[in-house]
Amino acid sequence: MSFQVFGIPVSRGVAIGRAVLVASSRVDVAHYFVAPDQIQPEIARLLRGRDAVVRELETLRDELPEDAPHELAALLDVHLMLLHDEALTGSASQWIVERHYNAEWALSAQLEVLARQFDEMEDDYLRERKADLEQVVERVLGALAHAQGDAPLPVTPRDFGGEDPLLLVAADIAPADMIQFKRSVFRGFITDIGGKTSHTAIVARSMDIPAVVGTREASRLIMQDDWVIIDGDAGTVIVNPSPIVLEEYRFRQRQSELERARLARLRHTPAVTLDGEHVELHANIELPADAEAAVGAGATGVGLFRSEFLFMNREGELPSEEEQFLAYKAAVESMRGMPVTIRTVDIGADKPLDRLTVNELRHEHTLNPAMGLRAIRWSLAEPSMFRQQLRAIYRASAFGKVRLLIPMVAHLAEVRQIIETIKRVQQQLTDAGHAYTRVELGVMIEIPAAAVMLPLLLRHVDFVSIGTNDLIQYTLAIDRADESVAHLYDPWHPAVLQLLAQSIAQARAAGKSVSVCGEMAGDPDFTELLLSMGLRSFSMHPSQIPAVKQKVLRSDAQRLAGVLPRLLQSEDPRAVAEKELAVVRSGGGAIH
Ligand code: PEP
Ligand code: MG
Repeated sequence: MSFQVFGIPVSRGVAIGRAVLVASSRVDVAHYFVAPDQIQPEIARLLRGRDAVVRELETLRDELPEDAPHELAALLDVHLMLLHDEALTGSASQWIVERHYNAEWALSAQLEVLARQFDEMEDDYLRERKADLEQVVERVLGALAHAQGDAPLPVTPRDFGGEDPLLLVAADIAPADMIQFKRSVFRGFITDIGGKTSHTAIVARSMDIPAVVGTREASRLIMQDDWVIIDGDAGTVIVNPSPIVLEEYRFRQRQSELERARLARLRHTPAVTLDGEHVELHANIELPADAEAAVGAGATGVGLFRSEFLFMNREGELPSEEEQFLAYKAAVESMRGMPVTIRTVDIGADKPLDRLTVNELRHEHTLNPAMGLRAIRWSLAEPSMFRQQLRAIYRASAFGKVRLLIPMVAHLAEVRQIIETIKRVQQQLTDAGHAYTRVELGVMIEIPAAAVMLPLLLRHVDFVSIGTNDLIQYTLAIDRADESVAHLYDPWHPAVLQLLAQSIAQARAAGKSVSVCGEMAGDPDFTELLLSMGLRSFSMHPSQIPAVKQKVLRSDAQRLAGVLPRLLQSEDPRAVAEKELAVVRSGGGAIH
């Protein structure tokens, strides 16, 4: 039966494929394909993992002390029985044979199938056995991880004659898990929770694959292997589409590929408006390897390197100064002399460190993490970690143009403390004989307090970058990751527009460079608005650069500026923008 699920569109385009359901806690299991000649060895690897756990549990059972509760032995028997059940390893082997999944993926795919069957059982006792099944699978996954040297090399589906594209369906995917999917096999994402600027959505966008979040119940309604269409423009998910609908979406998919190819030709065209204003289009990156895509898309610099992704998936160990230095240097070298703006870690809120690392640092999760020990607050609470990161960033400056960006600044005292720390770090580097050059200091404007007191901040810094994702979140008091308030997340809100326009104007008046690096910068629907405010530097995902560039090339910045006063005074700025910016677009002047 065909049906639709509605959510929030977060990454454009159409994806068509089969659903792969993955529970949130199991998303970070390795997902890759194995070559045909590796199928039998992969099944053998799965069975070796299973057998290792069988031996472990048998030993445990045989060595149970006399006085151990007899339920314990019974429980171990249940676990052993599950391990030997064909429904688990037999069917998982089938996934390997039929789909070429690696052992871990096959096992977790089968777990999803069985977990659903357990959920539907009438009998309470049987239903509760799902937890046992999960424990058993976790153990086998652990055994496979231990013997990782045995794992085969991943191959692409093309290597074995084509496969159906796969779309990931989960209740939620943490940004840390999402980052593992950068080179993954999935061609689209659907999640139950999240908002347009949640970090999960941001990473999906950076991968340039269609995604719909905040569907509330997609992971309950969609079944493993269902055929699914993701419409990343409309936020719709069509499950088991009819042949006619499928054909229509395949057509749309081809059209959008053609459009992308057409836009890609703008790569070497400088971003200059019709009236000759030069605009910088920089890239947002998460990992050093993304810098290549930035250059490929025609970015003229990196406007935001979200360094926190280097700190995720670390299992208790933060990256050393040397490791960070090598990562920053790699990004700087890839950009071949163009500026690279490295933001110090913005950990916290929906980008938590893994539990082990949190325990190591003794920081508890707070009740309201978006307002808690996040970003620069976290760095200042961990001064040696902060100095380590600053040293790594400064050392990378010897290899190209580096700019330093600080997230979540709200107090002048923080800026003073940062400047003092930088001085200390410079001295340490000089003493240790490390080379570095001048690094411009910038702060993110993403807390309303920072926007309101911008003239004071500007006295201390070289540049500012406006983080509209958080600026909107904090101005409107809306959790950006919470789908239940996503409808209130409004970049067109008059208060947001006032703060934006005023910040851009004040920075320009002070002769300091200002850019926007939040999601608004990469959305072509806002390009004219931001140009009208005087913005000449945008930073976005590399894949968004061509469409924004096309908008810039067709804009007349001076005429757009004429619309701004009316727009800012209006109770319905979006309507004014739609009407008046369109007049400018068609060659007319601003209406007064
Ligand atoms: C922002 O808040 O707009 C921003 C760019 O930072 P992040 O999305 O990483 O919080
Ligand atoms: Mg932010």
